[in-house]
Amino acid sequence: MTDFPNLLAPLDLGHVTLPNRVLMGSMHTGLEESGDWARVARFYSDRAAGGAGLIVTGGMAPNAEGAVLPGAAGLFSDADIANHRQVTDAVHGKGGRIAMQILHAGRYAFTPNCVAPSDIKSPISPFKPTALDEAGIEKQIDDMVTAAIRAQKAGYDGVEVMGSEGYFLNQFLVAHTNRREDRRGGSYENRMRLPVEVVSRIRKAVGDDFIVIYRISMIDLIPNGSTWAEVVQLAKAIEQAGADILNTGIGWHEARVPTIATSVPRRGWAWVTAKLMGQVGIPVITSNRINTPAVGEEIIAEGAADMVSMARPFLADADFVAKAKDGRTAEIAPCIGCNQACLDHIFQAKMASCLVNPRACHETELEIQPSASVGSVAVVGAGAAGLSAALTAAERGFGVTLFEAADQIGGQLNLAKQVPGKEEFIGLVDWYNHMVQVRGITLRLGTWVQARDLVGFDHVILATGVLPRDPAIPGQDGPNVVSYIDVLRGDVAVGGRVAIIGAGGIGFDVAEYLAHSGESTATSIDLWKAEWGVSDPETDRGGLSVEGPQPAPPARQITLLQRKAEKLGKRLGKTTGWIHRAQLQMKSVKMLGGVNYERIDQDGLYISYGEARERPELIEADTIVLCAGQVPNRGLADELGELGQAYSIIGGADVAAELDAKRAIDQGMRLAAEL
Ligand code: NAP
Ligand code: SF4
Repeated sequence: MTDFPNLLAPLDLGHVTLPNRVLMGSMHTGLEESGDWARVARFYSDRAAGGAGLIVTGGMAPNAEGAVLPGAAGLFSDADIANHRQVTDAVHGKGGRIAMQILHAGRYAFTPNCVAPSDIKSPISPFKPTALDEAGIEKQIDDMVTAAIRAQKAGYDGVEVMGSEGYFLNQFLVAHTNRREDRRGGSYENRMRLPVEVVSRIRKAVGDDFIVIYRISMIDLIPNGSTWAEVVQLAKAIEQAGADILNTGIGWHEARVPTIATSVPRRGWAWVTAKLMGQVGIPVITSNRINTPAVGEEIIAEGAADMVSMARPFLADADFVAKAKDGRTAEIAPCIGCNQACLDHIFQAKMASCLVNPRACHETELEIQPSASVGSVAVVGAGAAGLSAALTAAERGFGVTLFEAADQIGGQLNLAKQVPGKEEFIGLVDWYNHMVQVRGITLRLGTWVQARDLVGFDHVILATGVLPRDPAIPGQDGPNVVSYIDVLRGDVAVGGRVAIIGAGGIGFDVAEYLAHSGESTATSIDLWKAEWGVSDPETDRGGLSVEGPQPAPPARQITLLQRKAEKLGKRLGKTTGWIHRAQLQMKSVKMLGGVNYERIDQDGLYISYGEARERPELIEADTIVLCAGQVPNRGLADELGELGQAYSIIGGADVAAELDAKRAIDQGMRLAAEL
């Protein structure tokens, strides 16, 4: 008997039965653009072997003008079919099914040749699109239909037509981007003509035995977005046009509401999909921030959707479904919604991967093979780097002893999990705890290891982490000055007026922690919706409330400072930095850059500006929190050197600057994979 009877139940589409209700949703990974199709095939076939009921590829462009970026992958000509055939053969070889997403970016295409219903530039693109005439529209339809035919020839089991997220088809649907006065503009009947025509012509071209999914924008989250009545009207018309499944799209890319970030509550958008249930006869998939089998099960059991889409969770763990099926749920590596190695990479034109699973998209290059010689490994430090190294070494068959000075594993991950909006780190530390047991690692908590204790191990890995940097500000020894560690551990009382020295990732985290009181909005869908001004699209067009964001008042008066003159938070995550900045702005946090720290006394922090130390100012504060970065903690390394014991050093103990969990976990795994 499974714990997930609804999630793992088959789904009959008439011409095909899917083995379960889990869709691996479409993601840009950069793999297809690498041109290494064996690598692409391995990525998807690993997920097929891991039990995904149906996989959808990253978006494939139907033509050059619709490509997200110049050089983006697509099915532009029959010559591309052989490449895609490698992928479909590999997936079918593992018993899986895969559909290709057809993505026409419209005005979001990063090219001066981009096209759209009207010549209105998007706020997130430098290019003004050309408004298409009827012949131009006919060409786009034809190219999308041709892409579907090529997908079928390449062996795909179906296609997903991307109609949401503000891309081309979505742009026709709303007056925000469609100002046409012909038969494709004006009334909703006219505006939805194109998406409906695309689906019906694809269905006609591919026949009845081919899966056609349409991704519908259920809540646009932009001004002048669709009404709920329009969404339902479109859904019914798309069903009539021949789609087998409707998948949920949430928010346009230009929306100023987070849709998948870790601070969005789990299953935070399933309520939107639930509204469509019963309105159409075909299955409906829900999406966004679903990252455990239990959440998926709950959604389907309560009838909020017929199937759930998870994308990033399949980067974190290819075997998500297989583990859920085998009663090994606690072994599923959790996607923490951080975007750090997936979306942030894509937006920096780098190959995607996963913070939790560095093997994602690197399956052919980073193999974890059984060790030829089984020896002993000592890992010192059970933070992110040490845990990653220990788990990998144990997986390879080494006998691993993991030493940790604290009484729990997790290191700085334990600080992150205290921050409102970062609750997913709790699950990550839980997963590490479980995996340490599963892999049979000898864990020595509360152990201040000495260099001599490490002599005799075949391999010694130092992952001793970091120590807070001393910013050497006159007066910092006063009773009103504390470290971020004391604050996030809850070890000190913090006053009502706070100055935070340092505006890196930790300075922002501390500001968020101290500005907040009461329940975290990341664990309450209602509180979160109010904070970001999200409402029911049935009452407010596009799902944006008339009142706008209604954040809870700040718990403290906070000033966040840095010496650099640049915008605060500029170096935070590419796709999430704006969210952190917006959250602090909502809490009226004052952000000051280009400052010098002159001194601290009982009244607060004295600063000045610029090299000339102008405009001296007192930031009145009851508490001053030091978040001035870290330095490596590597005392043991010198002692081991004196004893002649070889060692490797990883994580913050290696390089503290710009350290994050992504680099630490990647470095730990790669080192242990090579032992
Ligand atoms: P950090 O990002 O390097 O920031 C350190 C801050 O301290 C900077 O604002 C820096 O700004 C300031 N600083 C440096 N030297 C100083 C000095 N001598 N005196 C006063 N201020 C000084 O380090 P962190 O905030 O400690 O974070 C550590 C790592 O954890 C980061 O690399 C970050 O990526 C990661 N992290 C990430 C997140 C996330 O959301 N992705 C969250 C938390 C932590 P100025 O030099 O301009 O003053
Ligand atoms: Fe999830 Fe972060 Fe991995 Fe992306 S990098 S898949 S958000 S855990």
